[in-house]
Amino acid sequence: MLVTITMEFISLLFLTVIFCSFIIRSKNSTNESVFFFRMIAVTMISLILEIIATFTIAYRDQVSVLNMIVNRMYLSTIPIIMLQISDFIIFLYNDELKVNEKKGIILRRILDISCLLVILVDLFLPMHFANNSFGDRFGVYADGLAVTVAISYGIILFFIDFISCIRYRNYYLKQKVLCLIFYFLLLAGGIIARLVIPGITIICCEVTLICILIYFIIENYDTKRVEKLKEIRDQANKFNLEKTRFLSNMSHEIRTSLNTIVVTSNDLIESNVDNDIKDELKDCLYASETLLELVGNILDLNKIESEFISLNNVQYDLKKEIESLVDMTTIRIENKPINFIMNIDNSIPNVLYGDKVYIKQIMNNLLTNAFKYTNQGEVKLNVGCENDFTNKVSHIKILVQDTGIGIKDTSKLFNKFDRLDVDKISTVEGTGLGLVITKKIIDSMKGTITVESEYGKGSKFLVEIDQAIVDNPSISIANRSSMNYNFGNRRVLLVDDDKLNLKVEKKTLSKFNFKIDAVTSAEEALQLMRDNGYDLIVTDVYLENEFDDQVLKYAKKFNIPVVCITADAIEGAEEKYLSSGYSYYISKPYSVKDIYNVLESIFRK
Ligand code: ADP
Repeated sequence: MLVTITMEFISLLFLTVIFCSFIIRSKNSTNESVFFFRMIAVTMISLILEIIATFTIAYRDQVSVLNMIVNRMYLSTIPIIMLQISDFIIFLYNDELKVNEKKGIILRRILDISCLLVILVDLFLPMHFANNSFGDRFGVYADGLAVTVAISYGIILFFIDFISCIRYRNYYLKQKVLCLIFYFLLLAGGIIARLVIPGITIICCEVTLICILIYFIIENYDTKRVEKLKEIRDQANKFNLEKTRFLSNMSHEIRTSLNTIVVTSNDLIESNVDNDIKDELKDCLYASETLLELVGNILDLNKIESEFISLNNVQYDLKKEIESLVDMTTIRIENKPINFIMNIDNSIPNVLYGDKVYIKQIMNNLLTNAFKYTNQGEVKLNVGCENDFTNKVSHIKILVQDTGIGIKDTSKLFNKFDRLDVDKISTVEGTGLGLVITKKIIDSMKGTITVESEYGKGSKFLVEIDQAIVDNPSISIANRSSMNYNFGNRRVLLVDDDKLNLKVEKKTLSKFNFKIDAVTSAEEALQLMRDNGYDLIVTDVYLENEFDDQVLKYAKKFNIPVVCITADAIEGAEEKYLSSGYSYYISKPYSVKDIYNVLESIFRK
């Protein structure tokens, strides 16, 4: 008995020291520390009761009532201690899982109630005292049904904890997993030791050890630092999300206005106005393109920050995409004496499968730079390919070559915000982001980019990427040399809550000889859809709240394609709109060719 009492007192001393130090050190009480605090308090009470029980058991005949009360109370602390440990384990993985929080709370409540039931039932179940009893093996001095129930409950919780730990092992911090493994080993080892040597009193010491261990894990500097970092990470993610939302809104606003400028300028250039005015309009268009590129680059910053860019692969006609791109970028030549030479390999398969938007962006960035940083001479665009028809892969090679200012040190070319040779290029607009973004896109496509440059003489950028060849395309291959604007006598419904946008979109669509009805609200749109049969609906997606549910459903029911024209061009926007039920997505500012391509896909499949 002396050995038992000594061990119990030493354990109690340890626990008291941990308890006090924990209260002093834990200034800010986290959920984890509250759990630990509860656990240590219950263990201390249990230990005090165990010490009293060890005394009274020696005088069981003289103090039978007191002995019974103390032992029943002590017995009750066993399920409570086990419950605290289970609670702690549920909390640990729940805290990591986060999403599972609700489930975790329900599980805890079930355990609380079950523990209470066991304690209540145990008050009435028979219990007697015997040497070398069943309970003795588990650190209890008594025997009987009450002991069996309490200990069985503890064993069940032990197994539940064990299974939880294995199931959610990936969610724990490494130190915490070690602590849990130690806990299971100690508890299992203690019980086995008791079964082999019944007199040995080690349960209280084990629980004390577990508490010490958990204490050092909670109070561990590294663990605390990891936790602090996690908190900071969560906060940073939140801010990042807000930043993305802000950028998305900004982009929407800027793109909407730009769209009006670009479309109207283009229309006027094509009309019969004087050449002087046309020149001025071209300046206006040029400025808009620059502004658009700027907006695009700022938005793309988001993409650089994320690890990899997600690709949106579709079937596309590379030659057609190059044509529309060249139309847009040659505007950069301005009045400089530059000869633009384009050479597109005829063996490029008609339909490829890949992210056409990004392929275009790569070429656009390289071509724009070539025009920007070349004052005279030539800019060459060569697009070639090596086709492997057995594996259905086309190895595309895009070469952009210029006779411009050249690059002194190509090693810094792909650094964020780095502009080289700043003195020489101070008059050229740029953010130093284009090539970083280009490289990121190429990496995501598992391609390569190589640069050769001779300072003062010119530069050569070669991009190589593989694209899948499509044998039986689901898109139509238009005659590239001429655009046939006649899509038959179609009826189109145009919906946009902004009257200026509506006017611009109506003007663009009227080029295709459609019969157009234009409205500014979903209600009006629905009314018209019920009264008339439409072949196509074109809408600004900012009407999405009312529009999504009603108009989209209605259009789907009658198989009417819905095209969204939106200024929301942030990463993932296209996928978002397509998956929410729109048939096609066009981002602002758009060209007539963008609209034409979509119309072709709809009406000339
Ligand atoms: P930006 O052109 O917006 O400054 P980029 O990332 O496209 O940013 O290019 C980074 C830098 O690389 C440019 O500022 C310029 O100094 C240099 N550069 C890129 N392309 C060329 C080129 N074709 N000729 C000369 N210098 C170039």
